[in-house]
Amino acid sequence: MNFIDNAVIKVQSGNGGKGHLSFRKEKFVPLGGPDGGNGGRGGDVVFEADRQLTTLLDFRYERSYSAEDGKQGGTSRCTGKSGKDKIIRVPAGTVIRNAETHEILADLTVDKQSVTIAKGGRGGRGNCEFTTSVNQAPRHFEPGEPGEEFKLELELKILADIGLVGFPNAGKSTLISVMSAAKPKIADYPFTTLVPNLGMVYVGNERSFTMADIPGLIEGAHEGKGLGIQFLRHVERTKVLVFLLDAMSGDPVQEYGVLCDELRKYESSMLEKPRIICISKVDTVTESDRPILEALDFGKEYKTMLISAVSGENVEILKREIWKILAVQTNS
Ligand code: GDP
Ligand code: MG
Repeated sequence: MNFIDNAVIKVQSGNGGKGHLSFRKEKFVPLGGPDGGNGGRGGDVVFEADRQLTTLLDFRYERSYSAEDGKQGGTSRCTGKSGKDKIIRVPAGTVIRNAETHEILADLTVDKQSVTIAKGGRGGRGNCEFTTSVNQAPRHFEPGEPGEEFKLELELKILADIGLVGFPNAGKSTLISVMSAAKPKIADYPFTTLVPNLGMVYVGNERSFTMADIPGLIEGAHEGKGLGIQFLRHVERTKVLVFLLDAMSGDPVQEYGVLCDELRKYESSMLEKPRIICISKVDTVTESDRPILEALDFGKEYKTMLISAVSGENVEILKREIWKILAVQTNS
């Protein structure tokens, strides 16, 4: 799944319905009073965050959204029907901007959070509303107020619960592909992943969390080297960091130090997040190397695990460990 994270769309709220022009018709009453009702209001265009959604891909195919117009008013002072609102669901973490002014209109960060972006037009008044002492038979009525039309820029900032931190080739994309339904592109060289991948990971049937594959964090990333810097800002919002250190790399402890340094230089608060340290690709190490990897000292009492995305070793346990930390955070 390639991660598409922006789109430009057009939205249009509904026009208000026209007011009605009519007079009461009753038997034996030659000239009934005015009874034209008001037009209904046009529907709003509303955006709602939905945490089940992970990309803005659909907005590349359907680019135009409109709410319903209000209906015309009727006789007997009947108000026209209101137009239906158009509810547009977007992934949590979507920022909505006016495409012309680039002004931020909304930042939908929380599931179910909603915002009205285009207000439907008011319905026009029917002639019954224009009766005065000097004009008992007004023929005046209003057209409905027009709806609003906007061109919008949508941008998705990843709101992953989990950020995968590791050097290129550490196995981040592979791990996310075995843990989630997302299938990122995997290849044998650094910088394969030009865009971050976001995967939905299920723990049992009910529980799930999102995990972002943050590519290209390399030494000097905070100075703009490599691709890391573009995506480091995404990791900022994650709740837990999972470090992936390649078992084949020679010195995982030293790599870990470099990664921590990068995070510290970029944003020191990142290091306050809970973390799990994983030695990846342990299917490639010999039995005699295992105790050495297990004994590595990362300086603190962080949970350390040996995992393999290829053999599946400890992948389920990693899911559960992540879930444990998230559950504690959500409840506190
Ligand atoms: P990323 O750059 O961190 O996203 O790393 P990738 O997921 O693209 O993996 C880089 C290379 O390591 C690929 O050739 C993968 O097939 C390989 N790889 C990833 N995980 C494992 C693993 O658990 N065991 C083995 N043997 N190879 C792995
Ligand atoms: Mg990758």
